[in-house]
Amino acid sequence: MDETAHATGTVLTIDLEAVVANYRLLSEHAPGAECSAVVKADGYGLGATRVAAALAAAGCKTFFVAHLGEALAVRQVSPEATIAVLNGALAGAEAEFEENNLLPVLNSLPAVQAWSASASGGEPRPAIVHVDSGMSRLGLSDQEVGRLAGEPSLLDGTAPRWLMSHLAVAEEPENALNGEQRTRFEVARGRLPTMPASFSNSSGIFLGPDYHYDLVRPGAALYGVNPQPSKPNPMQPVVRLESPILQVRSIDSPRTVGYGATHRVRGPTKIATIPVGYADGYLRSSSNRGRAFIDEYEVPVVGRVSMDLVTLDVTALPDHLARAGTMVELISARHPVDSVAADAGTIGYEILTSLGARYARRYVGGSA
Ligand SMILES: *Cc1c(COP(=O)(O)O)cnc(C)c1O
Repeated sequence: MDETAHATGTVLTIDLEAVVANYRLLSEHAPGAECSAVVKADGYGLGATRVAAALAAAGCKTFFVAHLGEALAVRQVSPEATIAVLNGALAGAEAEFEENNLLPVLNSLPAVQAWSASASGGEPRPAIVHVDSGMSRLGLSDQEVGRLAGEPSLLDGTAPRWLMSHLAVAEEPENALNGEQRTRFEVARGRLPTMPASFSNSSGIFLGPDYHYDLVRPGAALYGVNPQPSKPNPMQPVVRLESPILQVRSIDSPRTVGYGATHRVRGPTKIATIPVGYADGYLRSSSNRGRAFIDEYEVPVVGRVSMDLVTLDVTALPDHLARAGTMVELISARHPVDSVAADAGTIGYEILTSLGARYARRYVGGSA
């Protein structure tokens, strides 16, 4: 545990064994494909190097990050792994990619050309070619695919490991866009030189074998987010967040709680204050909407979430619990990231990647 434990009392527990179990479950759902792990944004906020080390020990051979710096961190703990950088290589960074054996994702025709040129006529350099099938974000456009198809020599300095694309609505299995994207991906595959393919994120894996291709790229589901929001979550919870009550205020006469006076207390009420706030990623949109648990009691967030503090109504609690030092569960198996996210009007991804730097982090399981 790091020393911030003593500073704030709040403890974030990350279960690496659960991450590994989730990796195995995802692998089993895509038996014909290699299963990689997406560990961008510091492993969705949980610690990319810890997660990557645990998954590498469990047999994961390929990791995706967003930026070069993230790739270099993972390279430290995983000398053998294939590490791909989703945002590609910025101009001038090609040598660093080569030195660290990193794969850029080539997101445009100019990116393909620059990468090919960086080989300077020598050994073609490995990379992933990304075609846009419906995100309108990164990836070669249809026209760029056409130009590359007409002039395959543009790939001469590039050794494509995979052709990839990315799904926009994979968590909605009934959405017709999934099939449309798959058709566009098939068209691009037909036009370009033959290479292995990668298409599915966490949710895409559950769309079935047509979506698996050669490599799947789960991120969120590894960390416990439900890949099929309309069904029970098959993933194990990974994160637990607990914070101690700092003090309990007994209020007898009508009063308001917190900034903006958005919560009004009418009768006798007990308000517990905990040392977590929006500066820790406890989203301000949880004001008057969030929930926490103490023992068997569900306690509502009342008033605005402040920068460093959250107020909870603990009137229903017995005195031995409604006091300083009692631990409050903010994220746990019974209130997992997805339900915390629903309370805050966002998605589990944002809850995870916002988890604060002031929490003491405790790793359990796996290679912890
Ligand atoms: C983030 C990302 C993933 C992982 O998506 P999840 O929904 O977290 O499984 C896969 N592929 C690409 C291109 C991504 O950007």
